[in-house]
Amino acid sequence: MICIYCNEQKEEKEFSLEHIFPDALGGALMDDNIFKTRQVCRRCNSISGRFVDGLFIKSWLSVAARAESSRKYLDLERGSALPFTYAGRMQGIELEDGMDCDYWIGPNGDRVYHVHEAYDERSMTYVSGNPITRKKKPGIAVLFPRNNEQKWLQTVFKSFVANFKKAKRYLGTPNDGLGPLLNTVFHEILSEDRQLVETLREKMNQEHHVRISMEEGFEQRFLAKVALGLGFQIFGEKFLNSSYATSLRNAFWEKDFKERQAKGVIFKSRLRQEDCPSALKELFWPGAHTIWLIPSGQYLILGIFLFGSEFYAVVISDEPEVWRGSELTSGINGFIVVPQIDKFVGPISSSEFLAHQHGVELSDKLKPLDEIRQHLDQQVT
Ligand SMILES: [Zn+2]
Repeated sequence: MICIYCNEQKEEKEFSLEHIFPDALGGALMDDNIFKTRQVCRRCNSISGRFVDGLFIKSWLSVAARAESSRKYLDLERGSALPFTYAGRMQGIELEDGMDCDYWIGPNGDRVYHVHEAYDERSMTYVSGNPITRKKKPGIAVLFPRNNEQKWLQTVFKSFVANFKKAKRYLGTPNDGLGPLLNTVFHEILSEDRQLVETLREKMNQEHHVRISMEEGFEQRFLAKVALGLGFQIFGEKFLNSSYATSLRNAFWEKDFKERQAKGVIFKSRLRQEDCPSALKELFWPGAHTIWLIPSGQYLILGIFLFGSEFYAVVISDEPEVWRGSELTSGINGFIVVPQIDKFVGPISSSEFLAHQHGVELSDKLKPLDEIRQHLDQQVT
């Protein structure tokens, strides 16, 4: 068997299930035949998960978009946990040598300071630093809730635990009114950490200087991977043997930004939803990922609205003989995944999608998604 990512011939037992669209973004909910493949070797699966999907998912932009979108599906009845918003690495704060402090903002404007081992050179652009180090040494997280309204505190605490599962979790401001909750959410402050909590309490009222690192083209290796995987799942061998598939594979493996631009893959830089070409502008769903196959001249383009905001695009193929003739490419067709509520829809044509969005003709595929949102909206108001 041949691995579509490394193009090497390997034995069958060396292969594993690859989520072309990562599980962490809702990929497990998606169509098995298109978004999952068994034709990727374990080695590629693990490398791409850690360094390609990981870099994209843990980039500041994706983390911010995730936090923003989750508020659209806030379920106060179920008391869902929300991701916190990453506000950057604190500067000018006195910490032990070799430590860094991340500043996070909670769903209600709450503040969290996460002190952990310093960012290393290779994982500067990963939110929270090296994911492997973080697993082993989860650090200390200190929460300063913004207000004491019970309805919100439940959500804030639940979110705090979910966001900093393994870390030592401290409450920054003493609050005896919390009763038994205190013990389930927070740890008792160890004597060696008292000074740190004190420092943070003082710092909280001062101006914050933060730093956020982003890598130029951080999305490109991820896009090349998704295009390669989808191209193979939809068009099979003829795609895999095309010269453009080779370009995608080369771009996927190339770590250096400048070198990558010479690999012949056509990326469209990130666009905010409102800056998209008008034909694509409306193809987003609030808070969800919409993934479109867009035929344009000789090109088949993959367009992704991530969390309903950032738009990313990459050419899947520049050879019409490879991609034409499939039902999926007869017009603009797409898929919607809403990880917050475990929903997946697709394929759906852009005309059906737009007719629904404009209220011209409601789509049976989309109606259930609308109903869930209406239900959640009622809770908040
Ligand atoms: Zn491989």
